[in-house]
Amino acid sequence: MLHPENDPEYKGLNVNKGISRPPSVNPYLKIKSKKSYTVSEYLEGILKGNSTVLSRAVTLVESSNPIHRQTARELIEKCVSYSGKSVRVGITGVPGAGKSTSIDTLGMYIVGKNHRLAVLAIDPSSERSKGSILGDKTRMESLSVHPHVFIRPSPSAGSLGGVARKTREIIILCEAAGFDTVFVETVGVGQSETAVHSMVDFFLLIQLAGAGDELQGIKRGIMEMADGIVINKADGNNIERVKLAQQQFKNALHLFPPAESGWKPDVLTYSGYYNIGIPEIWDMIERYVAFTKKNGFFDYKRAEQAKYWMYETINEQLKLRFYSDPKVASELAIKEKQVVNSEITSFAAAKDILKIYYTGIK
Ligand code: GDP
Repeated sequence: MLHPENDPEYKGLNVNKGISRPPSVNPYLKIKSKKSYTVSEYLEGILKGNSTVLSRAVTLVESSNPIHRQTARELIEKCVSYSGKSVRVGITGVPGAGKSTSIDTLGMYIVGKNHRLAVLAIDPSSERSKGSILGDKTRMESLSVHPHVFIRPSPSAGSLGGVARKTREIIILCEAAGFDTVFVETVGVGQSETAVHSMVDFFLLIQLAGAGDELQGIKRGIMEMADGIVINKADGNNIERVKLAQQQFKNALHLFPPAESGWKPDVLTYSGYYNIGIPEIWDMIERYVAFTKKNGFFDYKRAEQAKYWMYETINEQLKLRFYSDPKVASELAIKEKQVVNSEITSFAAAKDILKIYYTGIK
């Protein structure tokens, strides 16, 4: 049938036959396979501060391939003695609070003071969305092209515990590569804060004015974890509201019990977008570090965190082994049904399944 637009009535208009879509990968393109490095080659590259090698080492840590995992483990062991010298800062705030804008501005200020900065992220939603938005280079325009900055989005596979452990390992690699400041970004909505808190020295909470904290989805526990609260968007006709919010947050903090560190969290106001109040934020973090190094809390917290991660790693490995045991898996399916149908109690079911795991017999 004649296409209506090819009808003589529409002279001058000619609809051509389509062509089939070309493949998305150009078949004429030679794909260079990447040479794999040995552990000592990785280590050498990292210690020289080579970002390409660091990037590939991070990919190794994130991989679920057992061979990669083994190489990663060996590499991390070797890097540990070169690590630990950075200041680790956790940054949280609800979406839209201005995390990426602020990290970009604060980060540029810090690298301007001759620091080397790594920006990592823990994004609990990335497992579902198959890719993290946090820590994405496109969100931090100035930082992403700076030679003294390493930006990496959240590892995406696995449980929050797994993602957090990987991030902690990546911190070690970054420190061995000479990054003296590490930011770990997360969304201020859930459990990921606790994970970030367990790997950083200073926890910074970005807030907005004019919204009650329920509205911002910030739990009281997260406010309690904060070593500093900064209220963003103190610019234009928002300044008054920000000042009011500052007072409210200060009042709220008074009600909390004193922190173990002996440090009294500050509430500052700033504008990430207009670059106002940024040096004050960095100054607060430096004051905190000096204060806690002096009273011993800095090292104490690091030691406590190391202990926490030892147990976390054991728990994760045990769970992994348990759930990947084929006998356990088949029995779990059966027992689960029985429990749901009230044919057996949860405790008896758990006991039976654990027995199968330990003895191999039903
Ligand atoms: P994130 O989701 O927490 O990373 O927030 P973004 O950094 O993407 O910022 C969310 C929105 O707030 C963007 O439209 C920013 O341009 C805007 N924004 C961020 N910082 C400021 C600021 O200091 N002042 C103003 N007025 N807007 C800002």
